[in-house]
Amino acid sequence: RASMSSTHYQTLPAPHRVTVPTNVGRTSVVVLAMAALVGMMGGLLIVTPTVLQLQAAAQSTARPIQVPTDGSAHLRSIPKLEAQPVHSAMRAVRAASGAPHNKGSFLLDEDRHHQSQNMPHIGPMMLLSGVFLAVLVFLRRPSRNLKPSDLDATWSLAAVTGSKIQKVDRDWNQEKGDVPFNTFTKDNTFKGVIKSVESLVGPRATAEHCKIVIQTNGGIPAREGQCYGVIPPGMDVDPKTGEEKPHYARQYSIASSRYGDDFDGQTTTLCVKKVAWWDKELNGMKKELCSHYLCDATPGTEVTMTGPGGRTMLLDSDPDAVHICVCTGTGIAPYRAFWRRMFYENHPNYQFKGRMMVFFGAAVSDELLFAQELADLQATFPDQFSLYTAFSEEETKANGEKMFVQDRMAEHADEVYQLLNNGAHLYCAGSKFMMPGILEMLEKCASASGTNWEEMQQHLKDNGKWHVEVY
Ligand SMILES: Cc1cc2nc3c(=O)[nH]c(=O)nc-3n(C[C@H](O)[C@H](O)[C@H](O)COP(=O)(O)OP(=O)(O)OC[C@H]3O[C@@H](n4cnc5c(N)ncnc54)[C@H](O)[C@@H]3O)c2cc1C
Repeated sequence: RASMSSTHYQTLPAPHRVTVPTNVGRTSVVVLAMAALVGMMGGLLIVTPTVLQLQAAAQSTARPIQVPTDGSAHLRSIPKLEAQPVHSAMRAVRAASGAPHNKGSFLLDEDRHHQSQNMPHIGPMMLLSGVFLAVLVFLRRPSRNLKPSDLDATWSLAAVTGSKIQKVDRDWNQEKGDVPFNTFTKDNTFKGVIKSVESLVGPRATAEHCKIVIQTNGGIPAREGQCYGVIPPGMDVDPKTGEEKPHYARQYSIASSRYGDDFDGQTTTLCVKKVAWWDKELNGMKKELCSHYLCDATPGTEVTMTGPGGRTMLLDSDPDAVHICVCTGTGIAPYRAFWRRMFYENHPNYQFKGRMMVFFGAAVSDELLFAQELADLQATFPDQFSLYTAFSEEETKANGEKMFVQDRMAEHADEVYQLLNNGAHLYCAGSKFMMPGILEMLEKCASASGTNWEEMQQHLKDNGKWHVEVY
């Protein structure tokens, strides 16, 4: 049994966030600045006449302006003006300065008052517009409970530009041997230690998604496409008997290559979505256990692990293979393991010359996980790597319905079908709800070309080209 003490890792750095200015952050700042400007101008328009009146009052005490007072229109409105607070203030100014009450000075004030009356509602309207804009920005604030600084600390699809990837040379010492399988079980667990937790989503994401790096010291080797189990701490209580037992292991696809993100085989990476849903009985959000435990963990936290498990999603060792990878959300995790091995690591025995197509679906573009790496891959390997996204809350199909990943894939149905016919792998990971659409699309392609889809699918399965891990 391999085990590590958490005390060895207490000094690890705090969770790391990559700072990238987001479109959302910039837009909010611009609109807020406009709101402040409009509001200030409106406020000034309201306040200025008052200030001018006060100034005039002060001046008039020193140099009263004499004008005729024989029943002119100006004088008729004096009682109304005197009823207003500003004129009480003017009287106070005069009283303080010992100046006599002088109707002439009121006439000057009233003239100014009339000037401002020419545009009576402009000031309040501008002030209201400013407030309205500010409220608008507030309502469009991040959907999650993020600190303001997080606005600039998370990815936004539009803000990401790709840079060139330099493949890494290392002593790749885990190339031989069988695929490890269930080296650790619930009765013989492995203790890893959280190294870092990093948010992977932008402020408009519908849920937090985290990249979690776990220090393993090479104690729980795995292959690209496998999963680890994580047993959350505490005890599960049987609601019927009240009996206590350890929690069961939740499965998480490994999101790094077998060598980890540092290429030294000492860490592994998971990609976890915080699961929460509205519970009618609770009349509140039910925060699910393991996903919250992992995403809220701090460096140094011990993690009880099982595995590795799973053979369905294993990466074909053929460097010329074509991989069609379809996923929603955290279903991208095994594909990251693939692309790290294909495009980030320089393996003498695996010089990838094939092709990788990733079809990624999520609710909003701020949920494009590993956005920077995806941009870098497109920038560095445009002939080998392609990304197709579908954001159902932001994009619609021609008929106005929401765009899901299977719909985006259907736009490339002929190409996908041809590639499958020529021996490509099809991987599907993430939400099980995408499967009917994908199957329907492939069936249509098959029947259009006079092929029996069921036979073709069986052929793909028999040849290890059909990989589905949906949950
Ligand atoms: C092969 C495999 C690979 C996986 N890989 C990943 C991965 O890479 N990343 C990842 O984040 N997850 C992955 N999962 C899912 C993961 O294992 C957990 O199921 C998930 O993290 C939830 O665990 P939890 O302990 O937080 O919630 P749990 O305590 O397990 O609670 C989940 C429970 O909540 C209920 N529930 C959830 N939503 C609702 C709702 N809207 N209404 C009513 N009930 C609801 C479910 O029925 C379930 O009983 C994978 C699962 C499998 C099977």
